[in-house]
Amino acid sequence: MLGNFDDDHRFCTACQTYVRYLQSPEHAYCVECGQKVTLFSKDDTKIFLLGTKTGPTRSELLLEAME
Ligand SMILES: [Zn+2]
Repeated sequence: MLGNFDDDHRFCTACQTYVRYLQSPEHAYCVECGQKVTLFSKDDTKIFLLGTKTGPTRSELLLEAME
């Protein structure tokens, strides 16, 4: 086994793709461009939130917090 692909890649908003990243205590950074990376792309996050039963108000708050 070579490990879990998803554990090694996060979404970079600058590269607009999933990239390898460097983990610091506070944040994770894209190895390609140095931008902070997120666990999911915003679209993926919306899908994730819509797929949960947290309700629209809580989902909207979470999305606003990511801006
Ligand atoms: Zn990048």
